[in-house]
Amino acid sequence: MCRQFFNEPLSLHTSFKIGGPARLFLVPESLEQFLCALKLFPDAKLLGKGTNVLAPDEGVDVVISTLGLNNFRFDGNLLVSEAGVLLSKLCVESAQRGLSGLEFSYGIPGTIGGAIFMNAGAYGGQMADVVEWVECFDGERVRVLHRDQLEFSYRNSVFKKRNWVVLRACLSLTKSDAEGVRSKMEEIMRRRLETQPLEFPSAGSFFKRPRNDFYVGKAIEQLGLKGYRVGDAQISTKHAGFIVNVGSATAKDVIALAQTVKELIEKHFDVALEPEVDIW
Ligand SMILES: Cc1cc2nc3c(=O)[nH]c(=O)nc-3n(C[C@H](O)[C@H](O)[C@H](O)COP(=O)(O)OP(=O)(O)OC[C@H]3O[C@@H](n4cnc5c(N)ncnc54)[C@H](O)[C@@H]3O)c2cc1C
Repeated sequence: MCRQFFNEPLSLHTSFKIGGPARLFLVPESLEQFLCALKLFPDAKLLGKGTNVLAPDEGVDVVISTLGLNNFRFDGNLLVSEAGVLLSKLCVESAQRGLSGLEFSYGIPGTIGGAIFMNAGAYGGQMADVVEWVECFDGERVRVLHRDQLEFSYRNSVFKKRNWVVLRACLSLTKSDAEGVRSKMEEIMRRRLETQPLEFPSAGSFFKRPRNDFYVGKAIEQLGLKGYRVGDAQISTKHAGFIVNVGSATAKDVIALAQTVKELIEKHFDVALEPEVDIW
């Protein structure tokens, strides 16, 4: 049986600290329980660490969390992990074994399942670079997809396009020296701490980069919007690409603020922004 919670506040499970109750909140503790829950509640919302989600103020019916799926193992330079393991944990474990490839993701605060779903990336790397195969559920059956079937592109994957669920994944890493891997991770963390408003709840960069040569944060800053607020949702004063929750922001505040930014960017730069954050 999955662990079950009733009327569980989603604000406790999202990095934005926003979201009303999940009428039923399920935490499967094995892949078998996970599949059972997915079949029983095909319309459930799926939640990893909740670091790329804006959950509605009025809540949702059923949420299935992947955080109980936390087994992983190394086999030479291959790492096989269930969907709910945190990327940071996998980075540290890989570094300890002198395995390189995941350094770019150090500091991305989500699970491996969420990261594969949206092909998370940073500092020149992305999940597509290291994923070898993925075991997934397509709504009817379990399949194993190899890297050439994953349809990865910028912040996109076959899982996002088709609403398929990542169960387990295998990453292919490269033997390297532990010290070198660790120092690369530390350098990346230092850059994050310097540039990102980690002292406030957020979901990271709110918008996708619309083109390689268009920097959303810079454009928002040029419009003088740093610090602009709707309720307690604010354009970060440190990094204008982030919307932060400076108190008790609601999902409605965040959406209204994002809409204003979108309209102004369209008007001044003729560029259409799309959210990177998954708005439920
Ligand atoms: C401070 C901060 C910094 C960040 N920096 C970065 C960054 O540098 N680069 C970057 O790409 N992102 C970044 N993010 C965003 C976020 O951490 C990543 O997108 C992360 O991969 C999301 O993982 P998650 O487990 O939190 O997913 P969640 O937020 O729980 O879910 C996100 C989406 O993935 C779906 N999902 C979750 N698990 C699965 C699964 N097993 N199968 C199918 N779908 C699933 C959910 O249904 C939802 O639609 C940042 C966020 C924060 C708060």
